[in-house]
Amino acid sequence: MPGGVNSPVRAFRSVGGAPFFVKAARGATLITADDRELIDFVCTWGPAIHGHNHPRIKAAIAAALENGTSFGTPNPYEVEMAELIVKFFPSIQKVRMCNSGTEATMSAIRLARGFTKRDKIIKFSGCYHGHSDSLLIKAGSGALTHGNPDSAGVPASFARETVVLPYNNPAALAAAFAANPGQIACVIIEPYCGNVGFIIPDAGYLAYLREITAKHGALLIFDEVMTGFRIAKGGVQEREKIIPDLTCLGKIIGGGLPVGAFGGRADIMDCLAPLGPVYQAGTLSGNPLAMAAGIAALTLLEELNPYARLDALGRQLRDAVLAAAKAKGLPVQVPQCGSMFSIFFTATPVRDYATALTGDAKLFAKFFHACLERGVYLAPSAYEAGFISTAHEGAAIDRACEVFATAIRDL
Ligand SMILES: *Cc1c(COP(=O)(O)O)cnc(C)c1O
Repeated sequence: MPGGVNSPVRAFRSVGGAPFFVKAARGATLITADDRELIDFVCTWGPAIHGHNHPRIKAAIAAALENGTSFGTPNPYEVEMAELIVKFFPSIQKVRMCNSGTEATMSAIRLARGFTKRDKIIKFSGCYHGHSDSLLIKAGSGALTHGNPDSAGVPASFARETVVLPYNNPAALAAAFAANPGQIACVIIEPYCGNVGFIIPDAGYLAYLREITAKHGALLIFDEVMTGFRIAKGGVQEREKIIPDLTCLGKIIGGGLPVGAFGGRADIMDCLAPLGPVYQAGTLSGNPLAMAAGIAALTLLEELNPYARLDALGRQLRDAVLAAAKAKGLPVQVPQCGSMFSIFFTATPVRDYATALTGDAKLFAKFFHACLERGVYLAPSAYEAGFISTAHEGAAIDRACEVFATAIRDL
């Protein structure tokens, strides 16, 4: 296995040291191969909003397993899942299931291009939308007109169709639309960023984005793979009262199994095969086990409505970090909303990719290892969000606050 991992950030390259292996996970706790118990704030990179191995999700998968693992035909599980998604996301009139967040964003982009008959797309530096070619591109110096590939193997000719702009910057958006008249198929955004650490945009920014895309006939795609069902049941769009044209989902909706989905306006979604000319498909899409896990996760969220409680836990963590940093005289930014948070060691308020990079990554690495030694696992990178689950209530959060305070004191 290249680098010993099946997904690069697991390799600990940005914090140094060797990753640990996990043999089991329960609630808020990971159990490593050498029997250490860690309080987990990575939550399998977002999906585990109910903690690990929740009994209800486990039972749902076991019950589905009795009926078979894959049918390759329409099935009742996918209908129930579609009904749940449409219920919580009023902007989604029709939805298609797929197998990952990457598939969801890749397919939504193709659909936007097919629907508008335009080629160019706008994305924002620091926003991650999975690893498909058009989206694996961040800002180069000529960002306003042409993107530069972020990965070897992405042809420069593909990158030219992706315009990369700074996040949270209305003037840059206006300039990009003016420079590419009638050519922008869509704007794709993480409405709250979770992949350069956690960033909430300025008030009014998302509304401006909605307005300018509508004005220019470009579709607005909210990539809520991370924020969907996490910031609120209806994602950031519910909290900010913005109606995008298309939405991408993943992570939580799979209940820990591999799932993605994209959906939106019916007239746009009807351009997908078999109704329309935009092709998209999947052997395992709508897989019964994955649907059963996701249905259980979403139904639990509906029953528990844990969002106010999760926000209180998030504030408790944030306040502990802020207090410890203040006592130490160390500048820190702790953006937090609900169960998402980040710790940036910088005096600069973090509002985009450039300001996120002012965070001291070396200091973060030291902090990360100090926490890990004391049994608290944060994402092994200065530029990832932390996640809280409903299983973190009580002792796990109290312990994490103590560990964060000690780790900061000793930095
Ligand atoms: C995780 C993530 C993706 C990619 O999802 P995968 O299931 O890893 O392919 C896309 N967009 C956002 C915002 C994500 O957080």
